[in-house]
Amino acid sequence: MKDGWGREINYMRISITDRCNLRCRYCMPDGIECVPRQNILSLEEIQAAAICAAGLGIRFLKVTGGEPLVRKDCCRLIRALKGVAGIQRVTLTTNGVLLEPVLEELKAGGIDGINISLDTLDRAAYERITGKDCLNQVLSAVEAAVKLHIPVKLNTVSLKLGEENWRKIAELARRLPVDVRFIELMPIGHGKDFPSIDHRLLLSELKKQYPGTEVERRFHGPGPAVYYRIPGFLGSIGFISAVHGKFCADCNRVRLTSQGFFKTCLCYEDGVDLRPILRKGLPVPEQGHFHWPEDRKPDDGELQTRLMEAMRKAILEKPGAHCFEHPGEITEAADMVSIGG
Ligand code: SAM
Ligand code: SF4
Repeated sequence: MKDGWGREINYMRISITDRCNLRCRYCMPDGIECVPRQNILSLEEIQAAAICAAGLGIRFLKVTGGEPLVRKDCCRLIRALKGVAGIQRVTLTTNGVLLEPVLEELKAGGIDGINISLDTLDRAAYERITGKDCLNQVLSAVEAAVKLHIPVKLNTVSLKLGEENWRKIAELARRLPVDVRFIELMPIGHGKDFPSIDHRLLLSELKKQYPGTEVERRFHGPGPAVYYRIPGFLGSIGFISAVHGKFCADCNRVRLTSQGFFKTCLCYEDGVDLRPILRKGLPVPEQGHFHWPEDRKPDDGELQTRLMEAMRKAILEKPGAHCFEHPGEITEAADMVSIGG
């Protein structure tokens, strides 16, 4: 469906947990509190929201977190989402640490692509940023995913780690058919404390380093990245420049947080809490996971009607643009890890 500004909304990012096995300094440094387990949506609740979203015209789903693979039912969930009528593509964003052992299962479940976050190829710097010495696991997962012919995108936040850093990462796209995407850090949560490389500068450096670099118009997915081809490279280089290259006029996305908040813009608190709708009349434990009753179907007609009313209204009221350039106007106080990056 179209939002109040006439933009076609066809993409939903679903955060399935706020837990993570890493502690990236710009996202989830030590000391961040996790939400109570019973507040996290069950697989069936996420499925119910996805069914409703598909009815409203959502065609692309991205499963994210926190780290989605810390949830044991992540692969099962992806298979279930692939089965929702109207959904064309389901992809995953992961830090890659737990990825390699589940690649076959993800492929069998129909995954359409995997984004793997990787900010540096330097082992010590990786550990400094993430708190763990897991670089080799991630690199091994990247190679394994490519071998299985799963489309891979590497997400690199443009931290100021020196020229060598972005060059080495970009070089991965020379020998591997992967999209390397540089992402400007957004001033959300702890992202505020880390200056990001200005992408206008990065692009001009890239063009200097690799003569013949040209914009590529091929469809890479429903996101806002602008892609470039470098002669001799198997993969492409993408730029996601939310701050210096504001793309709100073409925004096509909404978000579902792990607690069931349907969020219409990263920058603001706007949206609607779907959890009370999903759980109406159901007992919620004081501790531990919430369990969806077996006799209730995610596509239950009455539930879908209530969800649809709430989601439709929120989409119609989606803000026109973010305000990252005026930090005082940002009303979202939550961290990226709980919103779902
Ligand atoms: N744990 C998974 C991962 O790291 O890919 C999925 C969740 S993580 C929040 C998703 C992406 O958001 C990562 O690529 C991460 O680098 C990025 N990210 C986190 N905080 C950010 C910020 N303030 N601005 C831009 N990207 C951010
Ligand atoms: Fe975890 Fe991803 Fe955030 Fe890093 S960016 S702390 S891996 S959720």
